[in-house]
Amino acid sequence: MRDFDIILVGGGLANGLIADRLTSQRPDLRMLIIEARPTLGGDHTWSYHETDVTAEQDLWLRSIGKSAWSSQEVRFPSYSRPISTGYRTIVSSDLHNRLVSNERLNLCLDTEVKDVSPTAIVLQGGQTLTSDCIIDGRGLVSAPGVSIGYQKFYGLECELSAPHGLAAPILMDTTVDQIDGYRFMYSLPYSPTKLLIEDTYYSDTPLLDTNAIEQRVRAYASLKGWDIASVDREEKGVLPVVLDGQLEMVWPRDQTMPRSGMRAGLFHQTTGYSLPFAVQTADRLSAMQVMESKAAAAFLRAESQAAWDKQSFFRLLNRFLFLAAQGGERRRIFERFYRLQRPLIERFYAANLKTADKARIIFGRPPVALHKAVAAIPPGAAASRANGIAAPNP
Ligand SMILES: Cc1cc2nc3c(=O)[nH]c(=O)nc-3n(C[C@H](O)[C@H](O)[C@H](O)COP(=O)(O)OP(=O)(O)OC[C@H]3O[C@@H](n4cnc5c(N)ncnc54)[C@H](O)[C@@H]3O)c2cc1C
Repeated sequence: MRDFDIILVGGGLANGLIADRLTSQRPDLRMLIIEARPTLGGDHTWSYHETDVTAEQDLWLRSIGKSAWSSQEVRFPSYSRPISTGYRTIVSSDLHNRLVSNERLNLCLDTEVKDVSPTAIVLQGGQTLTSDCIIDGRGLVSAPGVSIGYQKFYGLECELSAPHGLAAPILMDTTVDQIDGYRFMYSLPYSPTKLLIEDTYYSDTPLLDTNAIEQRVRAYASLKGWDIASVDREEKGVLPVVLDGQLEMVWPRDQTMPRSGMRAGLFHQTTGYSLPFAVQTADRLSAMQVMESKAAAAFLRAESQAAWDKQSFFRLLNRFLFLAAQGGERRRIFERFYRLQRPLIERFYAANLKTADKARIIFGRPPVALHKAVAAIPPGAAASRANGIAAPNP
């Protein structure tokens, strides 16, 4: 008899959601999560738009995360716009607390997995555990050959000495200096005096000078009249923005080990966000009748391929953003995009654009004639930047 019915390797967002969903839908399964760190989920703030997921999925996620807003806002030099799309945030500790209180789940924390196969894993200490279904969710995998740009950010979660006055998150405040690519500030008001302030860049390089950026975050807070009394934590990340490449480069077809999350290439190729994909995977996987690695790998690879194929338009947009847009044009592209209708913006973030949406995004009036600029990108320009996705250091 196998040690477990399912082993989830890596206790991050994707496998955490699979575990949460499966224990409620399939309580008969004996399940184990093995995580290298002492806590599950790492140290992230995972946000999503209400419309990225179904109403039922939103309800499920809101039973895990604590922060929800009924609207959001964007700010550009020429206008500000409140948008009545709900916005939600789950922090890693929410997911950790949810999973450790789940009595149906077996957890093995602070334990690195050295080797994985579809039927067995080997732990750092040499112990082998067996299962009919093993899912590898160890985060981003190196993928040489994929052409990427970067969405990178650094922020401070602060307690202010007085209320900030924000009623809703500011998703993009682009009225800041445009340095290192397209730059904007992102502010999440957790409470009247608690705020996450992040400085974000759509940049050509993954380099994150956290000392310099911290000064910019503090300068922005000061400009807004927000007096930082204390800093509770910092948040930083570098996410891939895919310009060109195939799923085969991320997850070769002949690799039969089931994968989840970023490791499966399941993320939005313009924002680098993976939560909505992780939710959908968890939901669909829990409906599978037979839980074994071969079927799970076939199912998950097909999900990844469908998500990758569906995002060719995002790769085109990214090529425009990173290869054709000069100077302040990256900001002007977003400035124009955010003047479009709210449902289109929602479908953009949900990676669910209709053909007419794509035409509306592409065929803009000047100053940014996207279709002409895209046509002007020399053939092979993206390939010349085949810098590849690099797995982060543990
Ligand atoms: C700072 C930050 C903020 C982000 N914010 C958002 C957001 O707001 N919305 C959104 O949708 N996306 C966001 N993302 C992008 C993406 O959703 C996250 O990276 C998400 O955590 C990816 O989920 P995952 O399960 O694929 O990988 P991870 O969450 O990274 O999980 C992988 C897990 O595997 C573990 N692991 C690795 N190697 C081993 C090993 N050998 N043995 C055992 N365990 C191992 C790791 O410790 C980790 O816990 C953010 C990313 C970052 C870095």
